[in-house]
Amino acid sequence: MRLFRGKKRKEKERPGEVGADGVEDSGGESPDESGPGEEETPAVATVDGEQPPVVPEEGEKPDFFDMSPEEAVSYRPPGVVVAVSKPRDFKPVLKAIGVIAVLGVAVLGVVLLWPSSEARVPDLIGKTLTEAFDAARAAGFQPAVDGWEYSGEQSDGVVLSQKPNGDKVVKKGSAISLTVSKGLKPGTGGSPGRESAPVTEQDGDGESAELVANPYEGKTVCVDPGHQVALAEKEWTDPGMSRKNPGDDGARGVATGNPEYLVTIDIGLKLKSLLEKDGIEVVMTRESNDVDLSNINRAEMANNAGADLYVRVHCGNSSDTGKSGTATLFPASTEWTESIFEAGKTAALFIQEELVKSCSTNDLGVFGLHDKSGFNWSRVPVIEVEIALLSNPEDDELLATDEFRWEAAWGLRNGIIQYFSNP
Ligand SMILES: [Zn+2]
Repeated sequence: MRLFRGKKRKEKERPGEVGADGVEDSGGESPDESGPGEEETPAVATVDGEQPPVVPEEGEKPDFFDMSPEEAVSYRPPGVVVAVSKPRDFKPVLKAIGVIAVLGVAVLGVVLLWPSSEARVPDLIGKTLTEAFDAARAAGFQPAVDGWEYSGEQSDGVVLSQKPNGDKVVKKGSAISLTVSKGLKPGTGGSPGRESAPVTEQDGDGESAELVANPYEGKTVCVDPGHQVALAEKEWTDPGMSRKNPGDDGARGVATGNPEYLVTIDIGLKLKSLLEKDGIEVVMTRESNDVDLSNINRAEMANNAGADLYVRVHCGNSSDTGKSGTATLFPASTEWTESIFEAGKTAALFIQEELVKSCSTNDLGVFGLHDKSGFNWSRVPVIEVEIALLSNPEDDELLATDEFRWEAAWGLRNGIIQYFSNP
């Protein structure tokens, strides 16, 4: 209604005209519109709340009621303080509050979103090494084994102590050093003549825990670091001498040029040191690169050692340079491998799983092969690992690092322990 009238007025004021809505336009100010701004009554306050009586003094100030309107306006009774009713300027205050609010939100955002440079150290005591390494890395730390100690409480491979301790808040990415159990001290597990007999001990829960002096006592592993400096000769596939395999001189890293025999001997020797900590006897087919051994020679070394497991350490090679990862091979069932192929397959499954877990490589799987000299001449359970592919630039770079070689050795060790623990 008002809008309509306003519009009408805009066009032209025509007093007396009846609007389209049937309301007569007065032509003047509409009654609902407020008049010119009302004067604000100044707030008046007394100092002590009581107004002293106005005492007119002769010849000085006239009585209020005798004043002219102009004088009345400016008249103030004595003792009355007039509050200055000045509209307050809130703009600077609002501006300041706004700036503080924006700054506050910005600081809060930075605090919440800034990648924290500190983190809480996870408690790793009582965890297995694999679990401890996973947990430490997930929390942003670098785990490392600092030492091994005999323990009557923790079975071997379990973390006994750590530095810094769990729950401490320290710089992210820093090292956590672990002391790991290597099991019960030899000789403390039983009376003479019963070294390998299980020892039972009451633990806190009243349940009996079985402790074994050295669960791998008497176990022998033959470790064969693949290849050598000398060129390989052709050799018979199997004792039936059905055909000869072409000599395999090993692969070379596509990125680094590292020969396979240098990588395999380093991993092989690292594996030896780990297995020996577990009390396992290790027979190496070679501890030097300057040897001349055929795959048949190497298998015979494993046979002569009466190895419980023969582990051939190799790196893979593929024509597809984009392919990367870890594979484990075992002898397929042939007339030469009848007595060992099942054990080999079991070992291969455990070792492949632990290797992939430890090395964080692609799982290329487990394969049974029937024409490998190293398998067919072996009379002990045998497997061959292809740690990673030297034909792949990323795998090759990994294989060149000490850290990855330790991960490989650890994966092999863990797989071997699994195999010995799950016959
Ligand atoms: Zn090889």
